[in-house]
Amino acid sequence: MPAALSPGPRCGDLSRVISLDDARAHVHGRLRTLPTASVPLADALGLVAASDVTSGELVPPFDNTAVDGFAVRSADVAAAGTELVVVGTVAAGSAGALPVGPGPAGGIMTGAPVPPGAGAVVMVEDTEGGDGPGGERVRIGTVPTPGGAVRPAGDDLVPGDVVVAAGTVLTAGHLGLLATVGRTSVDVVRRPRVGVLSTGDELVEPGRPLARGQIRDSNRLALLALCGRSGFDAVDLGLVRDDEAAIEEALRRGVEGCDALLTSGGVSMGDFDYVRSVLARVGDMRWMQVAVKPAKPFAFGLVDGVPVFGLPGNPVSSLVSFELFARPGLLRMAGRQQVERRRVRALADGDLRRRPDGKAHFVRVAVRQDGDLGFHVASAGAQGSHQMSAMAAADGLAVLPDGDGVATGEPVEVILLDD
Ligand code: AMP
Ligand code: MG
Repeated sequence: MPAALSPGPRCGDLSRVISLDDARAHVHGRLRTLPTASVPLADALGLVAASDVTSGELVPPFDNTAVDGFAVRSADVAAAGTELVVVGTVAAGSAGALPVGPGPAGGIMTGAPVPPGAGAVVMVEDTEGGDGPGGERVRIGTVPTPGGAVRPAGDDLVPGDVVVAAGTVLTAGHLGLLATVGRTSVDVVRRPRVGVLSTGDELVEPGRPLARGQIRDSNRLALLALCGRSGFDAVDLGLVRDDEAAIEEALRRGVEGCDALLTSGGVSMGDFDYVRSVLARVGDMRWMQVAVKPAKPFAFGLVDGVPVFGLPGNPVSSLVSFELFARPGLLRMAGRQQVERRRVRALADGDLRRRPDGKAHFVRVAVRQDGDLGFHVASAGAQGSHQMSAMAAADGLAVLPDGDGVATGEPVEVILLDD
């Protein structure tokens, strides 16, 4: 632990300020898609299919009824009001071998196989009687069309149909479809395991008392939550003192067990920021000053081939930096093509003013949707990079390019932080 006034490590000059696009291009240029793996369907939501999956079967596998009713031969019901003998009932799950037609009808439940002799089903609402045991009569109130209310075998899929194409982001619907065709697992790009590390002597775990000069470590919890919400496996690497050996040990542990690491703090100009000197020694890092506010300091590089995102320490900055760099980068590692959050045009409900400073500003805003009139935004509160209240209240980041900002009623682009 450094003495309060001793000089800390200096890591040389920070590179010149670079644009957001250049910083992002640098990150994306160094990232690789993770290897593929076979995972159970229950673990595959949100992952990217690594190869085409085809159906080996007819779906549905047999002709079945779309309604509860009576299976008939349509030729046996020439006119509305025809009465037929009911020879029994087929439930969903039974093999459906009732001697229907010519002549008799069979009760049938939704999803049950249509008996071989019957070509149509009449829904129960269009019939009268027929609810007794076999031998009762049913009065058919409509003339059925051949094939009426029958879902033919293979009307959804036939063998060889592609059910999930390589590159698809698996939704609940895809998982259901894969289960439908009998799959229990699917080949995907592996889910990124992302380690999150906090550094700083001033930090204490939530729940512990604060001495003067201390604050609580809030970044780690928030970043772990964002990782989880983005579909990554979040790994808590703990809170590490400003101590070279401890930081190195935590980084080594992280790169052994994770596909990527997020650190927060220690990437700006501070004197005791040992995470910088350790990363400079053990990694192949680039320190950047990005033309954005908040989240200007940012480091990115590889330690033993594992990407490390060095996020700034200020709580709002660390989360905005996650949004700008880590989330899209990690989604790309997960095989996603589309890695950006949704951006929409909104109207400012109040002034969102700023001064020209060469940077793009990302203003924490509350977004509301006004029926057909589209999106509206208003500042979510005080915009300091240490002020988490507005970050917590925000569900959007308004993008203010260099300039004077926007006035009430003017349009502004907003990034929706909606999941
Ligand atoms: P640094 O980049 O390490 O100089 O930190 C910048 C600011 O962020 C300082 O006020 C730190 O106390 C604060 N900070 C750093 N890490 C965290 C953290 N994990 N949680 C909350 N605040 C932090
Ligand atoms: Mg620090």
